[in-house]
Amino acid sequence: MEIRTKLTYQFSAIVAFILLVSFLSVYISFSQARKEEFYNRLSNKAKMVAQMLIDIDEIDMDLLKRIEKNNPLSLANEKIIIYDYNNKKIYSTDYDDVIKISEKYINQIRLEQSIRFGQNPYEVVGEFYIGQSARIVVFAAATDIFGMNKMKRLRFILGMVFMVSLAIVFLAGRLFAVRALYPMSVIVRQVNKIGISNLHARVNEGNGKDEIALLAKTFNTVLGRIETAFKTQKSFIANASHELRTPLTVITGQIEVILMKARTNDEYREILQLVLSEIKDLNMISNKLLLLAQASSDPSDISYSVFRIDDLLWQAQNELQLRSPEFVINIRFDESVDDDEKMLVFGNEILIKTAIVNLMENACKYSSGNPVEVVLECSDETVKMHFIDKGIGIEEQDLKMIFEPFFRSKNAVNFQGHGIGLSVVEKITQLHKGKIEVSSSVGMGSEFILSIPIHKNR
Ligand code: ADP
Repeated sequence: MEIRTKLTYQFSAIVAFILLVSFLSVYISFSQARKEEFYNRLSNKAKMVAQMLIDIDEIDMDLLKRIEKNNPLSLANEKIIIYDYNNKKIYSTDYDDVIKISEKYINQIRLEQSIRFGQNPYEVVGEFYIGQSARIVVFAAATDIFGMNKMKRLRFILGMVFMVSLAIVFLAGRLFAVRALYPMSVIVRQVNKIGISNLHARVNEGNGKDEIALLAKTFNTVLGRIETAFKTQKSFIANASHELRTPLTVITGQIEVILMKARTNDEYREILQLVLSEIKDLNMISNKLLLLAQASSDPSDISYSVFRIDDLLWQAQNELQLRSPEFVINIRFDESVDDDEKMLVFGNEILIKTAIVNLMENACKYSSGNPVEVVLECSDETVKMHFIDKGIGIEEQDLKMIFEPFFRSKNAVNFQGHGIGLSVVEKITQLHKGKIEVSSSVGMGSEFILSIPIHKNR
């Protein structure tokens, strides 16, 4: 069911309930007032007739009947019945015997002085009257035609007012709900128009204050994030294909050139060497891209274990020096490293080693053979690895960008690389709830600090 319809029904139901309760209380109090008034009149009548019969000697029963018959003040269908001290009926104008009075009622009146009850369509009042010469019980009964008609009319008026009010409330509620939800429909229409081709479009934030404006604002924020992610994705794909295409173009070119005519063995060897190096480069790029994908995956898809971080530092140093013997990497333990427990890390060993190798390799690569220092520092919460080089450094404005995939500083173009390593490091760090910081000054060198929470702390 649409919200506007639901709101209209709920609104109408609430108003209907309130109207019903108020009308019912009006009706009930009117009905009680009518009854009270009619019983009082009956009671007065009973007392008056009893007084006339008992206390006025000149009036006997026949005279009283005649007086009552012609009394213009008599009530509609009025019946008067009188019983003596022996419960014997001594007077009655109920000629058809329609009012049924049992002895129980008469005795009850003697105890309680007065009773009131209904005998459809009559209302009956019984009074105990003590006169100068007798003690009698008088019943007066009549139908309140006038009062009943008034009640009927009241019922009709209240019923009509209820129906008309309900119809008005339903229409007003509908109008109100449609108007209140109109901005929502506008937003839905605007959102439906937003697609991949116009992700820059935003929905109207209206007055910027109410809940709907807040919804629009939140939607715009999410849209902004999606747009950024989409752009990043797009540029990532463009960069990745560019990086993969370059070595492929070189390989194709070389092979085409060599196939143009017959070549000497040395020429073939030279070209094959070149092709091999391009293939190695290609292999490296695809490996790094795979790593980036792996490090960006869901943490629950990655296997974790507990290991010593210093072991990884030694392994990374060995690996790099085997690959590039000219790299000089000095590993030093800070004095804070006083407990083996503090070097235990819970994470993915292969990924953390990859991050360490990348940072060590960058430090060596960008410092052109200058020795690189790696310092291990421990605390009760984290292990910190400092990778310090005295290389080319990074310009201030590039510091924010170096973790973006494929970003390379201008001063790094003469060094081999593809700009993927640091984004892999950042993803691995995030995966392990760690932190990567960098400080650098151009021409002086750089320091990268990788912090990983220790096992105890996770
Ligand atoms: P690559 O080294 O393959 O270019 P990275 O993602 O590892 O890719 O590094 C991104 C950029 O950050 C590098 O191109 C370089 O400009 C800069 N950079 C990273 N490490 C250093 C460093 N130790 N000294 C100077 N510049 C660095």
